[in-house]
Amino acid sequence: MGRGLLFVVSGPSGAGKGTICQRIIRELDIDLSVSMTTRSPRTGETHGVSYYFVTRQEFEQRIEQGGFLEYAQVYDNFYGTPKEMVMERLVAGRDVILEIDPQGAMKIKESYPDGIFIFILPPSMKELRRRLTGRRTESADAVNRRLRETLTEISYIEKYDYCVVNDDLEEAVERTASIMRAEHSRVSRGVQDLIARYKEEV
Ligand code: ADP
Ligand code: 5GP
Repeated sequence: MGRGLLFVVSGPSGAGKGTICQRIIRELDIDLSVSMTTRSPRTGETHGVSYYFVTRQEFEQRIEQGGFLEYAQVYDNFYGTPKEMVMERLVAGRDVILEIDPQGAMKIKESYPDGIFIFILPPSMKELRRRLTGRRTESADAVNRRLRETLTEISYIEKYDYCVVNDDLEEAVERTASIMRAEHSRVSRGVQDLIARYKEEV
């Protein structure tokens, strides 16, 4: 059995990454990695589902133990991808999605170049503000800060393999799912075994 595929999904806060990834895990046979963060839970967020919410001390301990595949400071908090769970699933042949910021994505690109990097864009800055404000999870100051960060985040886009504009949600989910399905058909992934079997039959 081959390794599963590692998909890295990034994009500005409010672009719709979370919404798209939740839909994808219902539609495809794929796991979503649960990150660890020092940020406080928002209303409706559950420990172990949305994130593992930990103290700064617990986070630093894990860094020292080498327990992160990558970690980064985003806004005022730390976020990291627990290494063990992701590697175990990939080795077991399962596909995994990491929904992480571009700094983290670039670290993954160095340590795991076989990853597939997908950037989610909003249709416009106006719509991004509307979505961030409508989500009602951040203060007005935090919304403005996230909007200011958007241009810096977008500057990483050329390092990604794919870009999906999340205007109509259904279309964006379908495009993202199509990318994930198509990646399994790449000639570079495992076709050698198939050819070896043909040769045995001849
Ligand atoms: P992110 O994870 O990128 O920060 P979310 O998935 O939380 O973004 O989406 C931000 C807000 O925008 C949420 O309230 C979500 O319901 C809404 N949203 C996501 N995609 C769309 C879309 N295509 N059209 C309209 N609203 C959307
Ligand atoms: P939020 O606070 O809105 O949940 O997330 C803020 C940002 O942190 C988003 O860009 C999100 O993708 C990113 N993020 C979430 N988990 C991780 C992680 O494990 N590593 C990194 N580098 N970024 C993460």
